[in-house]
Amino acid sequence: MSAFKPVAATAILAKPDTAPNLEIAQRLEQVRMRIRAAERRFARPAGSVALLAVSKRQAPAKLRDAWRAGQHAFGESYLQEGLTKQEQLADLDLEWHFIGRIQGNKARAIAERFDWVHSLSDARHAERLNAHRPADRGPLQVCLQVNLSGEETKSGAGPDEVRKLLDCCRALPNLAVRGLMTLPAPARTLATQRRPFRALRELRDELATAQLPLNVLSMGMSDDLDAAIAEGATLVRIGTAIFGPRAAQTP
Ligand SMILES: *Cc1c(COP(=O)(O)O)cnc(C)c1O
Repeated sequence: MSAFKPVAATAILAKPDTAPNLEIAQRLEQVRMRIRAAERRFARPAGSVALLAVSKRQAPAKLRDAWRAGQHAFGESYLQEGLTKQEQLADLDLEWHFIGRIQGNKARAIAERFDWVHSLSDARHAERLNAHRPADRGPLQVCLQVNLSGEETKSGAGPDEVRKLLDCCRALPNLAVRGLMTLPAPARTLATQRRPFRALRELRDELATAQLPLNVLSMGMSDDLDAAIAEGATLVRIGTAIFGPRAAQTP
C-alpha cells in the first residue's frame, strides 16, 4: 500500500463541525440568486419572496453554516428532530417553522416551540394549537395547507373545506392565519408546475378579506420555485438545493 494515500482532504470534509462549510454558503447564495432572477423574470417586486431553509434530516452543523451565511428561518417536518435541533442551536437567534404532518398529541409541543406552522388542515388541531400557545410568545403564525390535487395520500384540506377551517381559526385568538400553503405532486414543465400554484393564489383571492388578507403564499420547493414565484409565492421552502440530499433518517 502506498504511504501517500491522500486521506487528509477527505478527513477534513468528513468533519462538518470543525470548519464552516463553504459549500452551504455557496448553495445558499445560488438559491438567493435563483429567487432574485425569478422575481425579475415574472415582474415580482425585488425582495418579495422570502426563503425558508428546509432542514429536515440535515445535520445541525449544516444549519449553523447556513446561519453564518445569513439564513435565519428554518423549516422542520419531524417534531422530535426539530426539538433536538432547537436545543443544539439554542445559542442562535433562529425562527422555526413546522411544515410536517401534525398529530394531535404533538400539537402542544408545536405550539410551545415553533414560531410558524405551515401545515394546518384540521380544525381540531387548530383548537389544540390555540389552547397550548404560551401567552408570552404571541400568536402562532399559521398557513392553512390546501390539497389541490385531491390525492388521498397528500395531507391538506380540500379547497371546499378551507373556508370552514378559516372560520374556525378566525375565532382562535392565539392563532394568526397569515395565508395558504400547498405541496403539489411533482411536475416536469413550468406550465404544469404553475397550475396548482395558480389555483392556490386564486383560492386565496377568493378567501381574503380586509381583516384577513392572507398575504402569505407558502409554495415552491427546490424543483419548482420558479413556477411558484411566477404565480405569486411570497415564501419558498427550499431544502436539497441548499443542503444537498437528505439523510434517510434523522441524523
Ligand atoms: C421537504 C420539504 C420541502 C423541501 O423540499 P426540497 O425539494 O428539498 O426543496 C418543502 N416543503 C415541505 C412541506 C417539505 O416537506
